Formats: sequence, structure tokens, C-alpha cells
Amino acid sequence: MFVNDCLNINEQGHLTIGGCDTVALAQEFGTPLYVIDENTVRKNCRSYVNSMKNYYGGNGLPLYASKALSCKALVQLAESENMGLDVVSGGEIYTAMKAGFPPEKIQFHGNNKTQSELEMALDYNIGKIVVDNLYELELLNRLAKEKGKTVKISMRIKPGIDAHTHDFIMTGQIDSKFGFALETGEAMEAVKKTFSFENVELTELHCHIGSQIFDIDPFVSAGKVMMDFIGDIKKQTGYVIQELNLGGGFGIMYTTADNPTAYDNYMKAVSEVVIAKAKEYNIPIPYIYIEPGRSLVGEAGITLYTVGGRKEIPNIRTYVSIDGGMTDNIRYALYDSAYTVVNASKADKTPNEKVTVAGKCCESGDLIQKDTPVYDVQVGDTLAVLSTGAYNYSMASNYNRNPRPAMVMVKDGKARLIIKRETYDDIIANDLDL
Ligand SMILES: *Cc1c(COP(=O)(O)O)cnc(C)c1O
Repeated sequence: MFVNDCLNINEQGHLTIGGCDTVALAQEFGTPLYVIDENTVRKNCRSYVNSMKNYYGGNGLPLYASKALSCKALVQLAESENMGLDVVSGGEIYTAMKAGFPPEKIQFHGNNKTQSELEMALDYNIGKIVVDNLYELELLNRLAKEKGKTVKISMRIKPGIDAHTHDFIMTGQIDSKFGFALETGEAMEAVKKTFSFENVELTELHCHIGSQIFDIDPFVSAGKVMMDFIGDIKKQTGYVIQELNLGGGFGIMYTTADNPTAYDNYMKAVSEVVIAKAKEYNIPIPYIYIEPGRSLVGEAGITLYTVGGRKEIPNIRTYVSIDGGMTDNIRYALYDSAYTVVNASKADKTPNEKVTVAGKCCESGDLIQKDTPVYDVQVGDTLAVLSTGAYNYSMASNYNRNPRPAMVMVKDGKARLIIKRETYDDIIANDLDL
């Protein structure tokens, strides 16, 4: 009935998630409210871990790309499922450290890590730093030297793959702000340069071709290109790279128009090409990492809102106003993202109208979805937006000084708060008087 397994409908006709009535959750915790189903996240983690076992002999580690949803509870959940972690900022490192995540299982990404972030990573002994450019390589080497450390690094490569996704979330092609280009020789030069630095040790190559990708082909091509590069490095320098990070980007279902592939299919195809290439170049089969973010948490999450108004503009459209908006979900405004909206108070009814769900911010572009099918929305109804577990809370802002919503985790009919709702005092906490 719904794209998300954790959703259902109870006797009152209310939408449920993880066995909890969403209308009751909205009453108990207030709205807007993020809700995430623990069992779904765990099931997703296990599908990655198991698929790595089944198709690659367990010779690798899935890392949770925590930028999708970074908070202590999710980081701890990833750890309890034996995953590693990806971080992209000092704030995400700090979250992971405060959550007690083992630093050696963390990789630190970003195209402009600041000096203080790099120092922080070195001080916490973060497992690997994924170097993005030559400035960073030099800076990192100098900082590591000052601290008397040698740091393991990966190197972000642009494999030159066009992943058929939205322009803003496509990162593997040459015209991208991330990483070293293969075609121009820039990547090879950078690899050679690392050999002249004493305080960095290049053990891994990394690529990430984009996000919300459904085809297997671009992942397989990326695997091939990266293995060819590892072969090339061996040929030119004799040095053998032992680890390969193939990034994330696996697509999820936002609406019934999306058709994700079972993760096993991806892992099987990529394993085959990596193993074949290792044989071809006579190098050990590399230890591999993958970095799912969206696909671990996206479909597990929903957002609940309370409808505060309805404006019917004859022959144009009907606006339904909710008590959140671009401050808690900026993805429609940013990417035109599609979402499924459900009237959670009347979830047993078939949609009978199309409405435009508008946020409460002072921006005309503050919409969650335009002309979307839903059943008879009235003031006071609880509206649910599905598949909001990824890149919603993590992209939230305080625009118009709206406090960020709370998040509850549900499991088998029970709900508990994992992120408190911000208060107005939180919002002015850093303000100083004139
Ligand atoms: C964003 C990102 C990911 C996760 O992407 P998803 O599409 O959420 O799976 C993985 N690796 C890197 C380097 C990223 O930037």
C-alpha cells in the first residue's frame, strides 16, 4: 500500500509507523515531528553488511554516510550494526565522538576541510582522511608532521561517470568541485606526490558518483575505472593500493515512480568487476568500502505536520498550509524533489483531490510538494510526508527563527525521543545584546 514497509493503517484509519499511530504521535510530541523507524534502519544496515558478506567474502565495510542524518542515536545505531562511518565536517566528527563511535572506523570527507577540522581529525585519530586536493594534501602532511603522526589517507577521484541524476547531486564527472580528475592526469600526479610526503600514507582510493541513482551500470563502470587506475598506478610506480571506496548514492523510493534495485544486485555486479580486474592486474583483491546514506535512513523516516489553513484559488490550485516547511525539508525548494504526501488522519481513504503543500516561511518557494494527490485535507488534520529520513533534519535551518523539530524513533509500537525540539531559548542562545 505504501512505498515504505514500516507504514500501515490502523482501525481508526490513521497512518501508523513502526506500529505507532501517527496522529497520536503528533499529539504527544507536537508537530512538525520527524519520526524514524528503528527496525527499517537496522534492516537496511544488515542488507549492506550481508551483501558484502555474500558477494565479496566480507572483505569490506559499509560506512554510514552520516550527513544524511547525523545525530548521536543514528551514529550509535550504525555502530551497533557493525558499520563504519563517513563524516564531512567537524560537527559530524564531534557528533560521532560524543556518540562513542570508534574513530578508526571513520572516514573524513569534504572538498574544503579547514585547518581546525583537519587538526581535530588528527587529534581524534580518525581512521582515514579522504584528500580532495593538493592544498589539503600539503596542509595535512604539515599538520600531521607537527603532531608527530602519520595519517592514513584516501584520495577522492573523479572517475568521469555521468550518473543520470539531478545536476546538483551528480559528482563523478570532470566538471565537479570534488576530487582529482583522472582524464587530465591530475589524479596520477597527486598519487605520485603523496609518495614524497612522509606523514601521509595513501592506502585507499575513493569515488562517489552521485546520489539517488537507480542504474547499476554507472556503479559498475566506476568500479572498472577505479580498478584500471589502481592497475595503472602499479604499472607506473610499482605501488599497490589495497583499499577501494566506491561511495554511496543508491536510490530510494520517494514516490511510486521510483524503482530502486535490490542492493544485492549492485554488490554482485560490482564485486564481479572488481575481482576480475584484480586478477587482470595481478594485484590482491582490494578491501572495499561503500557509503550508503540516503538508502539507510530515507525510507525509514516520515515528517508529521498539522494543517493550519486551506486556500482554494479557483482554476489555479489549492494551497494547504502546514506548521513546518523549507526549514525542516528544503528538498523541494532545492531540487524539485518528489514526495508522497498522506493525510495521516484519513489514511484509509483514496486521494480525491490535489493540493499544494505550503510551508509557513516567508518565501513563495517554500513548498513541500505541488499539486499532489491527497484525501480531503482539512484544518487540524495530521499530514505525513513520506521518505524524509535522509537530508531533511540534516539540512534543517532556523529561517524565520523557526525552532527545529523533534525526532522520535519508533519500534514495535513504542516511541522515544532521540532529538529534542528546539526551544526559543535555543534559538537566541548565541545572540548578544547591543
Ligand atoms: C553524500 C555522500 C555519500 C552518501 O550518498 P547517498 O546518496 O546518501 O547514499 C557517500 N559518500 C560521499 C563521499 C558523499 O558525499
